Amino acid sequence: MTVASSSNTIAPKKYKPATELVFIDNSDGNGVRDPYHAASVPIYQTATFKQPSIHDMGEYDYTRSGNPTRTQLERHMAKIMSAKKAFAVSTGMTALDVITRLVNSGDEIIAGDDLYGGSNRLLTYLKEHSNITVHHVDTTNPACIEPVLNPEKTRLVLLETPTNPLIKIADIPTISQMVHRYCPNALVVVDNTMMSPYLQKPLELGADISYHSGTKYLSGHHDLMAGIIGVKDEEVAKRVFFVINSSGCGLAPFDCWLLLRGIKTLGLRMDRQQANTMRIAEFLENKGLKVLYPGLRSHPQYDLHHTMARGAGAVLSFTTGDVEMSERIVEAVTLWAISVSFGCVNSLISMPCRMSHASIPAHIRKERALPEDLIRLCVGIEDADDLIEDLADALHTAGFLKK
Ligand SMILES: *Cc1c(COP(=O)(O)O)cnc(C)c1O
Repeated sequence: MTVASSSNTIAPKKYKPATELVFIDNSDGNGVRDPYHAASVPIYQTATFKQPSIHDMGEYDYTRSGNPTRTQLERHMAKIMSAKKAFAVSTGMTALDVITRLVNSGDEIIAGDDLYGGSNRLLTYLKEHSNITVHHVDTTNPACIEPVLNPEKTRLVLLETPTNPLIKIADIPTISQMVHRYCPNALVVVDNTMMSPYLQKPLELGADISYHSGTKYLSGHHDLMAGIIGVKDEEVAKRVFFVINSSGCGLAPFDCWLLLRGIKTLGLRMDRQQANTMRIAEFLENKGLKVLYPGLRSHPQYDLHHTMARGAGAVLSFTTGDVEMSERIVEAVTLWAISVSFGCVNSLISMPCRMSHASIPAHIRKERALPEDLIRLCVGIEDADDLIEDLADALHTAGFLKK
């Protein structure tokens, strides 16, 4: 089994983004098509493959190393991420884990200060156990990155944009150019989970690696966990594949199939979720709440965001000025499920400091200006009128709006 069997060749003709998502090339990359012309990519629910002979291993031998269903997903993802190669692994955190194995003891990682809580936890582990220095800086300001760049030691510069939950924007092209100029050995890595490849393609903006939690928008239904790593450089791709094959974290065939199924409707879901979010953002802003959403002109980095992305996405945050008020609002909604995560067809509400970001110690949350009263909305595909009415009722019940 070689990396070649996970190979992804980029489709020659480029269609519009929504079309690309649905159009799955059913050949295996070597021009071999499914013998029965299955319209849905079949699930190869097998751990092993019989070899043609003792001398010929065949294309697949063992599912940890490669599986045709996974290959289809990886080729499809490479196409929609504009990656040279894409890899499907068990979760979004696994994706980051695999990427951080490109970093050696004594090396340094530069990461944001408004990172996904799980990413923060993994980086802290590396800092404490693997002799890796992690600089947490405000990556939404390139000037904060420059002083910590070290041509000898910096290996990864890890960005999220928009950040979660503060919805700040990192300038991928400017940062990529700066990093590549000062640190030719460093890789710019973008966690693109929040935007999905439908709205933003970091590899086209200068990043070296882009990854997604497939658990979120790619799947869209909160019924599976997955991670996708997209890589621009063939040599880096080989190292990533080596780690995945060695550690055995490749995505299982059934989950690959389910994820491919979800990806087909990503465009439709995202269009609807984004339109809903825009209406909700305007509603909340009109009620006098401080709303963070790059679809609003009031967002300080509105222009920068729209130079990189095709849309503003479907996650917004807002503050009420009062932690207890925020708690009452979250408790008072009915349509919005109190849940961590995002990207689902259902609408979700959370208080990051109590939930997804609770693993970040309180003093660090304070240092990073993460407001304790922050409410995050992850907007689904329901009718926007219902979602707004439910929020309006909750604002009344909580006492934010007078009856
Ligand atoms: C959810 C999430 C992850 C982790 O993905 P899992 O699939 O839950 O492991 C990483 N980054 C971001 C931005 C996320 O939202």
